[in-house]
Amino acid sequence: MDVVKTHHLTKTYGEGETQVHAVNDVSMTIGEKEFVAIVGTSGSGKSTLLNLLGGLDRPTKGRIEVSGKSLEKLSEEELTIFRRRNVGFVFQHYNLVPILSVYENIVLPIQLDGNQVDTEFVAEVIKTLGLKGREDSLPSMLSGGQQQRVAIARALASKPALILADEPTGNLDSKSSQDVLGLLKQSAKKFHQTLVVITHNDQIAQLADRVIRIEDGKLFEVQITGGDWS
Ligand code: ADP
Ligand code: MG
Repeated sequence: MDVVKTHHLTKTYGEGETQVHAVNDVSMTIGEKEFVAIVGTSGSGKSTLLNLLGGLDRPTKGRIEVSGKSLEKLSEEELTIFRRRNVGFVFQHYNLVPILSVYENIVLPIQLDGNQVDTEFVAEVIKTLGLKGREDSLPSMLSGGQQQRVAIARALASKPALILADEPTGNLDSKSSQDVLGLLKQSAKKFHQTLVVITHNDQIAQLADRVIRIEDGKLFEVQITGGDWS
């Protein structure tokens, strides 16, 4: 089954001469457990596309289905609930809550949704991401790479079908970038999640099953890397 399906998806900002088609007539699918990298120059529409896929933003035209659900039909409230249950987000700025511990940050979205934390699963996620022993630390006590791993753990903990990451290694040195992305890939695979990562880093794009380039809001498939995803 396809986890993501878009049909003539378009997002237009502004009017008249200043009008920008940030995402321009994009029809594509992303399969279950697939790892897709999105590359493109600054301003090409990468973040706009990712935000549309995750229901953080609404299209001007066209349709999006995530896990079989048509997002454009949902009210704001339904969309908020949909996001919490179905999509894990990882951003360049880790967006951790500074006064909460590592563990509290990781389980926060689950608790906001009023759900019971699957403590065994969360423990496994923490271990997979190399955060064991750090559960009680505050984010400020961790390195950038560690903080990003907490953000990844938070995205995985509610078991969403889809993980969306917008330049997740943009603030990290190249060694930490490779480590963090490797762990993100490994975790998504282990927990059967579909992964879409925006990146500027070619080495990271090489880890993906499929690389999509976006230029002026239009998609181009650039290569199949034939990774070891299965
Ligand atoms: P990328 O993530 O590839 O750098 P974006 O998706 O952020 O690109 O932006 C794509 C285009 O849409 C750019 O021209 C940008 O200026 C424009 N854009 C993005 N968000 C807005 C907004 N909220 N209002 C107006 N224009 C926007
Ligand atoms: Mg961007």
